[in-house]
Amino acid sequence: ATPMSVMVGVGKAAESGVLIRNGEALQTASKITAMILDKTGTITEGKPQVTDIILVNADCEEQVLALSAGIESHSEHPLAQAIVESANDRGIEAIDTEHFNAISGKGVEAEVDGQILLFGNLKLMQDKNIDIGFNEAKAQVLAENAKTPMYLALAGQLLAIIAVSDPIKPDSIEAIARLKRSGIKVIMLTGDNKATAAAVAKKVGIDDFFAEVMPEDKANKVAELQQQNEVVGMTGDGINDAPALALADVGFAIGTGTDVAIESADVTLMRGSLHGLADAIAISKATLRNIK
Ligand code: ADP
Ligand code: MG
Repeated sequence: ATPMSVMVGVGKAAESGVLIRNGEALQTASKITAMILDKTGTITEGKPQVTDIILVNADCEEQVLALSAGIESHSEHPLAQAIVESANDRGIEAIDTEHFNAISGKGVEAEVDGQILLFGNLKLMQDKNIDIGFNEAKAQVLAENAKTPMYLALAGQLLAIIAVSDPIKPDSIEAIARLKRSGIKVIMLTGDNKATAAAVAKKVGIDDFFAEVMPEDKANKVAELQQQNEVVGMTGDGINDAPALALADVGFAIGTGTDVAIESADVTLMRGSLHGLADAIAISKATLRNIK
């Protein structure tokens, strides 16, 4: 394409809230054959809310929220915000925790009065040898309802399961349908558990998804598809997504996402809507058509 037609295309995209950082990205966008979408914060709002608290060895919900908000007040994860807000809303004071440690893709750990406090997914509980027993079935039911269950354990004992729900962005379903109509393979990638991922994928019309993906493995998925001769678009919002965004043929960052994601991507969707993807691809096609 001529520099002039590319400039026009970049300008047109900007008018619809799609910021394209370089002319090459605009030209490659029309050739995308596979689009990877992160789940949390990309397909969904990324603003989870606490929906369920199941007491196991805890006395009351207040105790569970005081402990979980105590540990999560040290974390910047969207799940952590949901917990801290829920405690705040109910006027529950967080319990002080020490020696906080984030365990990537699994959860968080800290100490309370010298006892180990853990909060995270099943993998975290298995790593730390916490006996979940039949409570896993309860978490499974929550996950099948598209909720994300998290386990809270203190001093080696399971206290409770807390579930959060992250609403799907209102236009994600239609935006994904537009991508599929243009012949693009759409694939969802998430660190969340398999049952939750399956429920969300089904709701938004995605057949192909990979769950329980460790942060360092997101970029490997991009590479895998590229080795299969796909031209890969990657869309994400998180720090976790940055290496995959950089490696993809075209990286799309959600404008409301983290700075690291935006810096690693070629394109920023200022409005956060996934419609920006099909818009960018349509403008790319029009740009290339004009110069032929
Ligand atoms: P994603 O952003 O794609 O969901 P992450 O790697 O950030 O992936 O998280 C994967 C899973 O690890 C989460 O679904 C959750 O179960 C657990 N997890 C990660 N961070 C936290 C946290 N701060 N508190 C509780 N659980 C967490
Ligand atoms: Mg995300």
